[in-house]
Amino acid sequence: PIDVDFKSKLKVVETFTAPSSHKIKVFGHRKGNEILGIWGEFVSVDYDICVGDGACIDACPVKVYEWAEFAGNPASEKKPLMAREPDCIFCLACENVCPVQAIKISKK
Ligand code: SF4
Repeated sequence: PIDVDFKSKLKVVETFTAPSSHKIKVFGHRKGNEILGIWGEFVSVDYDICVGDGACIDACPVKVYEWAEFAGNPASEKKPLMAREPDCIFCLACENVCPVQAIKISKK
């Protein structure tokens, strides 16, 4: 599962601008698509654990996520990009449906 204390342990190494123009913070390590780290400050997904099954995308009532391609990532080549992270209503639906517990939702 995602390390729920990642924000105190990992640094922001990159900022990724989503198609929605929301700026997503990337924590930890990044080595191309091979190692992606944890994406999202409040809607956070460990992309090195995520298997890309899309349950979170289907579960979210406010469409926070959209598919993004990360060719070559060992865990999965498609990930749920938190493109509309500021829209999150903290319902925890995505966290609860994730089969590998890759998601952590935290309030500001
Ligand atoms: Fe969507 Fe709820 Fe997950 Fe927020 S906590 S991203 S609103 S499913």
